[in-house]
Amino acid sequence: MASDTENDFAGCQTSDNSESYDSRAYDFQRDKSGNVQQRQPLGFETRAIHAGYDPYEHHGSVSVPIYQSAAFAMHDAVRGDGLSSGEIEGFSYSRCANPTVDALERRLANLEGGVSAVALASGMAAVSFALLCAAEGGGRLIAPKDLYGASIDAMESFFPQFGIHTDFVEDINDVAEVESKIGPDTRAVFAESVANPSTGITDIKPLADMLHRHGVALIVDNTVPTPYLFRPIEFGADVVVHSTTKGISGHGDALGGIVVDSGKFDWANGRFPQFTQKELVVSDERHGVWKSFAEAYGNAAFAGRVRIKYLHNLGAVMSPANAYLQLIGLETLPQRFRQETDTALAIARHLESVPHVTQVNYSGLDSSRNKALADRYFPQGIGPVLSFRLEGDESHINRVVDAVKVFSYVPNIGDTHSLIVNPARITHREVPGDYRRAAGVDDHLLRLSIGLERPSDLIADLDRTIAGAY
Ligand SMILES: *Cc1c(COP(=O)(O)O)cnc(C)c1O
Repeated sequence: MASDTENDFAGCQTSDNSESYDSRAYDFQRDKSGNVQQRQPLGFETRAIHAGYDPYEHHGSVSVPIYQSAAFAMHDAVRGDGLSSGEIEGFSYSRCANPTVDALERRLANLEGGVSAVALASGMAAVSFALLCAAEGGGRLIAPKDLYGASIDAMESFFPQFGIHTDFVEDINDVAEVESKIGPDTRAVFAESVANPSTGITDIKPLADMLHRHGVALIVDNTVPTPYLFRPIEFGADVVVHSTTKGISGHGDALGGIVVDSGKFDWANGRFPQFTQKELVVSDERHGVWKSFAEAYGNAAFAGRVRIKYLHNLGAVMSPANAYLQLIGLETLPQRFRQETDTALAIARHLESVPHVTQVNYSGLDSSRNKALADRYFPQGIGPVLSFRLEGDESHINRVVDAVKVFSYVPNIGDTHSLIVNPARITHREVPGDYRRAAGVDDHLLRLSIGLERPSDLIADLDRTIAGAY
């Protein structure tokens, strides 16, 4: 959340300030102008449990309390006025901010290395709000074709209805091809750090360097690896989005999404009129003080606009109960992902020698064409998702999903349960054929998301069902 908001409006105030952000085990603080400064470098495991929450501000409650309340008492007219103007910090209405959700936002901003974050009801709310916020008012986006199915559907067939168009590229790692698509209206490039289900890797550093020369922003969907395995902001991403439904929550029990603002991009560089036009919602009309989002929110302008315009007007709010589940899940993210990633690599290696398996897609494999990128960006592995192709036809795929016993046939990833799905029929159903082919999705493909079961049980389940399908 923005710490340096001078003007805000009733219902969207939070207790975010440099004192509370800095109060305990957190590894960065802000100076008076809102800049984040490194203080004590605490480890990821420590911050996954402590960052963004101070028990002593909540009656000492060790577990973040579920603030199951739509609204918060403003106490008296003076305080109500102060809350509305932003001079007093606090909460008043849960559509814009809630203390439980606030703890999750601070924790994920910390773990991703951003300055501010906005939690939303689902990953697709995070993807859509971030893309629309960057491109609103007739802007264009650039993206690869092998994105998550609903993201492709949004950009290819839905956002154009609102005047926002996407130029798709064949290879997001071909910097020259991406650069050739940049025009006067281009606002942002959208890519996935690790693509699902191909596990293709975006080479973020050279892409970000090129885009920044043009004043174009890079928005990265970091759902598959989670911030434990990869932090795109360290390599130049300007905004990071997640479906927190997946590895972050980790137990398949709650939907959620988050938009994290790196605080590094200059949204007032001339390409983004929505950030420099004066807006009543961040101004003080009665005193004749008019501000833009860039002026009101400084380096947290992107998160500020997502909250004050998109969350406020479109209302895809994360519930306090779901925020609580994601906070609990986050506490064990490092341990879960270490084991799940180890098992995924072991299963990928095993599948390479299983009869009837014609291809294994896992960028951590020595045989993968992405191995060099995996080594550079993912020293701890690329995560729990992999996919493989079977010979024969769709009936063989169907026999496997019908016969698995340990794997669950589920359209989800990042769960403690191991999951299997046939993407062509389920997760990529709404995706046009040429985009499906670019993502390597056809009737021979199965996707796995590896959980925490004993690896030998998972391998036995796959061996038995694949052999039984022929
Ligand atoms: C699941 C997913 C989404 C969408 O998230 P929801 O929480 O289902 O809305 C977006 N991007 C990726 C990479 C995903 O895996």
